[in-house]
Amino acid sequence: MGQDWIDILKDSVTRPEQLLERFRVDIEPIKRVAEVYPMFISRYYFNLIEEVDDPLWKQCVPSPLELEDPYGHEDPLNEEVMSPVPGLVHRYPDRVLMCVSNSCATYCRFCTRKRKVGKPVINFSDEIYLAQIKYVKENPRIRDVLLSGGDPFMLPDEKIEFLLKKLRRIPHVEIIRIGTRVPCTLPQRITPRLCRMLKKYHPLYVNVHFEHPREITEEAERACGLLADAGIPLGNQSVLLRGVNDSPEVMKELCQKLLKIRVRPYYLFQMDPVKGTYHFRTRVEVGIKIIESLVGWTSGLAVPRFVIDAPGGGGKIPVEPNYVISIDDDKVVLRNYEGKIFIYPQAPLREKVVVPAHACVR
Ligand SMILES: *Cc1c(COP(=O)(O)O)cnc(C)c1O
Ligand code: SF4
Repeated sequence: MGQDWIDILKDSVTRPEQLLERFRVDIEPIKRVAEVYPMFISRYYFNLIEEVDDPLWKQCVPSPLELEDPYGHEDPLNEEVMSPVPGLVHRYPDRVLMCVSNSCATYCRFCTRKRKVGKPVINFSDEIYLAQIKYVKENPRIRDVLLSGGDPFMLPDEKIEFLLKKLRRIPHVEIIRIGTRVPCTLPQRITPRLCRMLKKYHPLYVNVHFEHPREITEEAERACGLLADAGIPLGNQSVLLRGVNDSPEVMKELCQKLLKIRVRPYYLFQMDPVKGTYHFRTRVEVGIKIIESLVGWTSGLAVPRFVIDAPGGGGKIPVEPNYVISIDDDKVVLRNYEGKIFIYPQAPLREKVVVPAHACVR
């Protein structure tokens, strides 16, 4: 076994002066940013940085651009308003997002919850957890509970088990999901002991959070392998980041490498307009082009769904390249991944089949 994850965390890089251990940079501007948006980099992740301003540096070292953001909101997804209980966001009819932790193994500079990172606004306690669980229990339409944060895996095993056990006792909770960046930023946290505990609470899904192929290391592979061996299906959520992964080549390498460590790409997020992250934003067309460069050109399993989380809190909206050129009563004209045109003959129009325009709107 390697070093204990708690020990690795104690050795984290939190003061800009520590950057000088490995790099030659002017830390004065970095210090000013870190006073507003704290810096916290696990020693493991810090060691993955190869040079100043490389794709991993950009993700975790404060940039003066964070303070120059002319756009952006503190809470673009309106999470605070949609929160009936502290930390719980109920946006969709059948599922909730339950923030259960304030801390992360590394603070991502592009975080959507940048307003909260490193500045606990909720002091998580058993009372808060029990209030969240009570809300789930009293709302029988909730069949899917997503534990998030912060990072749920920053909690001790016992606290995670406390939450899982209570949620599992609620008959209408069909699936539980955990969103975590720990397999990427502190893979040592994924221990056989944690996995033995988790597997008692199936069906359990874990979504991990890798942004760049260089994050797929032997340690990350070991962490994801342990989770997968515990029977947990793994998905990945990436954020499309300017200068980090905003090219078809990098994204294809990332998605293919994820499949090799048994992680299925799930979402590719367009950056939320969060204050202090403007410099990471790409134009939406960039994401569409990336998806086009994947569809058909690599395994369908490697293609994530590109989504925009609607500002104001409308949920995730898929943004897809268009492969349908026209559609009428007789035929659908399609283009394939290479741009060749194909015609699909429609089934005959049957009378009396009335399809409501918005079948699922209640
Ligand atoms: C992303 C999100 C979910 C889960 O969405 P899926 O599309 O089911 O993965 C649930 N609640 C909130 C508030 C979310 O932001
Ligand atoms: S791990 Fe997630 S919650 Fe934590 S800083 Fe990164 S993006 Fe934000």
